[in-house]
Amino acid sequence: MIDLRSDTVTKPTEAMRAVMAAAEVGDDVYGEDPTVNALQARTAGMLGMEAAIFTASGTQSNLMALLSHCQRGDEYIAGQNAHIYQFEGGGAAVLGGLQPQPVPLTLSGEIDLDALAGLIKPDDPHFARTKALCIESTYYGAVLSLDYLSRVRSFCDEHKLVLHLDGARVFNAAVALGVPISEITQYVDSVAFCLSKGLGAPMGSMLCGTRGFIDSSLRWRKMLGGAMRQVGIPAAAGLYALDHNVERLADDHVNAIRLAEGLSSIPALIDKQRVNTNILFLEIDDHKTARLRTHFAADGITISGQRLVTHLDIGAADIDVVIASAQRFYESERVA
Ligand SMILES: *Cc1c(COP(=O)(O)O)cnc(C)c1O
Repeated sequence: MIDLRSDTVTKPTEAMRAVMAAAEVGDDVYGEDPTVNALQARTAGMLGMEAAIFTASGTQSNLMALLSHCQRGDEYIAGQNAHIYQFEGGGAAVLGGLQPQPVPLTLSGEIDLDALAGLIKPDDPHFARTKALCIESTYYGAVLSLDYLSRVRSFCDEHKLVLHLDGARVFNAAVALGVPISEITQYVDSVAFCLSKGLGAPMGSMLCGTRGFIDSSLRWRKMLGGAMRQVGIPAAAGLYALDHNVERLADDHVNAIRLAEGLSSIPALIDKQRVNTNILFLEIDDHKTARLRTHFAADGITISGQRLVTHLDIGAADIDVVIASAQRFYESERVA
């Protein structure tokens, strides 16, 4: 099976399982799990943030961030196709009494800052209080540039907004830009990233920010049911991932770009300019996509919707199989 649905489908390697089995653990609710403490310290150091907290998922991290930054009746601004607005069950509204203000994003995940200035509510009882701006990188595989991040930072300073980065795949962004992760995170007040995606851990996510913000997030994590006990076992996988699986994200990018090159010989299938990290999208209609999915399935290839994602469990040989399968599909469609 060649599973291109997501980078969440990776299974822990033998080496990762070995460090999990050997992990020193304690009760993390007492702050006594040495492996969790090491992961949190390591993460904060790497990202150049004061503190970090281990959470169950990216969704939990994002929700804790919004609940910590905002009060009931506050508003957060996020892209209308951003994960934090679209794919997290409306958690911030349901559990926090926070109003989302969705805004259009470009294909590269940028919010137009001039348009945004007009959406910030005046200090008047008619309006919710605009408090936070959420950005996402990578966004559907696209990387926010350092220049854009710096402009967003200035914008937030000018308008007194806190800036949260949903960086589920921010390590892919850092590797694509060729910079240490701290070059990206220096611009934001808080950042969430997933250990369970390209980094290859079986579960978990990290949320980082100031000491005060993380203290507040710890309280929210408890309320959300996310305070767990001997979680040094999954945290060991997270440490292993930070040590061994960051630089290798470049392999996933090379594979995705090679896949894009191969598929671009088929007219109008994909836009290879858009592929910078590990995700690519088919640009064909739903009917054709459905036919291609059926064709791929017969060749043992699985994709999700129009999305193909490379990851730890996909090698260069798999990419060749996918390209060859797509070419056969194209031939059969031409004959039909
Ligand atoms: C996957 C993802 C999340 C949520 O992570 P989960 O661990 O699946 O809850 C948040 N934001 C983005 C951009 C993601 O891709």
